[in-house]
Amino acid sequence: MKKDLLRKAYDPEEFRSMAHQLVDQLADHLGNTIHEKSEKTISWNTPKDEHEFWSDYLKNGDSKDLFPEVLNHTIHIHQPKYMGHQVAPPLPITSLSAMVASVLNNGMAVYEMGMAPTAMERIITDFICKKIGYDFNSNGFLTSGGTLANLTALLSARKAKLSHNVWNEGHSERLGIMVSEEAHYCVDRAARIMGLGEDGIIKIPANKDFALDTKLLETYYQKAQNAGIKIFAIVGSAPSTSTGIFDDLEAIAHFSKKNDLWFHVDGAHGGATIFSKTYSYMVKGIEMADSVVIDGHKMMMMPALTTALLFKDGTNSHTTFSQKADYLLEQSVEEDWYNLAKRTFECTKTMMSLHWFTLLKTYGEAIFDDNVTTLYNLGHQFAEIIKKDKSFEIAVEPMSNIVCFRYIDKSLDDQSLNRINEKVRHALLQEGEFYIVQTKLRGIHYLRTTLMNPFTTPIHLKELLDKIRTLVDSVISHPKDA
Ligand SMILES: *Cc1c(COP(=O)(O)O)cnc(C)c1O
Repeated sequence: MKKDLLRKAYDPEEFRSMAHQLVDQLADHLGNTIHEKSEKTISWNTPKDEHEFWSDYLKNGDSKDLFPEVLNHTIHIHQPKYMGHQVAPPLPITSLSAMVASVLNNGMAVYEMGMAPTAMERIITDFICKKIGYDFNSNGFLTSGGTLANLTALLSARKAKLSHNVWNEGHSERLGIMVSEEAHYCVDRAARIMGLGEDGIIKIPANKDFALDTKLLETYYQKAQNAGIKIFAIVGSAPSTSTGIFDDLEAIAHFSKKNDLWFHVDGAHGGATIFSKTYSYMVKGIEMADSVVIDGHKMMMMPALTTALLFKDGTNSHTTFSQKADYLLEQSVEEDWYNLAKRTFECTKTMMSLHWFTLLKTYGEAIFDDNVTTLYNLGHQFAEIIKKDKSFEIAVEPMSNIVCFRYIDKSLDDQSLNRINEKVRHALLQEGEFYIVQTKLRGIHYLRTTLMNPFTTPIHLKELLDKIRTLVDSVISHPKDA
């Protein structure tokens, strides 16, 4: 019978017993990682070996081993020694909301395909707008990632700021945006997708501390205008990805106002700073932005992928993908807030608002302050530890939980140091106790940490430096196999 397999696969009792077992495995995994009962953050394999393992498993493996093997073959973000990319160790309760969302699989494109999560999305985005400092004209939505949110915001900017309708008519005019050379690469990519080309991406050099150099804005703007490029938007990073340095949002806001530009804040990483009583001064000026992006899966402890895109003037969020003239739209905006796909890239979208709502209901907004403040504090503590250690130097005084540093030895030139730091980072990866990443800043190779785990302590950070010191010795004494 064709249906036998389907009947077995959909069997609720089968689900019950598998799920109970899996929850136990995952709870053990959380215990092993959060409480450091296991020694490794990653058991690194070459891509080739990994591919072979899973090809073989598909043919010969026991299906009972599937999820345990996935745990063995993945990086463990809940380990306090995970200090790499900017992905959050998700709060366990959001793994449950993710399961609810996966079971129900409401598609979200129209209201009846996600009644509760649609209402929750409105409540959550209104809440964040208020936190930013926007008034009642504001609103927003959730979308699948900072990359897509940045592209969406720039499309809204183009629609709002140009006198002709590019969405309907295309464009022959040369258009451009301004952005720091330190901005996330997805802004560059978004501009290229929009057909702005290389010349349409006006990259403003960063100052010595890696923030957009606002003194240069006027000159670069004039130069672009003289070249016949119509600038319609400027992007500020809060903070930039490599260094974690915040642009001066207030200065950029004033510049954009003076020149009638759309001001977009890419707060994918640090937009959540609005929740920190201690650090919210770093995003001063964010309330003047026309649009703001905040990732839930970075500083807000949610599973990937969920991003809030907020608009100071909510009407703009309805016009982005609309063929209609704006005056026709105005009338339908209020009754249409609940049909989300009209405003997002996605048609089908996950029930992502459930994570935000669950966190807010269960723990209150204090948990966002606790997390951001703890992690930024830790960034500053790490910088102090590094500064006291003669074998290391920081790239720049950190403003967040992103800290770039390198091993130094006064007797060696930068080229040798670059090589050593690069090798050390690879040795760390292969060893697997700690996980950190790397970045090149102005020709210098730095080790880069993003402190994403509130249970990482200064002791872990000192252990990391000691580990690096040991690895440097082995890298120098066995240059071939390192
Ligand atoms: C992470 C990041 C992005 C990309 O966001 P995704 O959610 O990974 O698509 C964009 N901008 C900045 C500043 C980021 O840190």
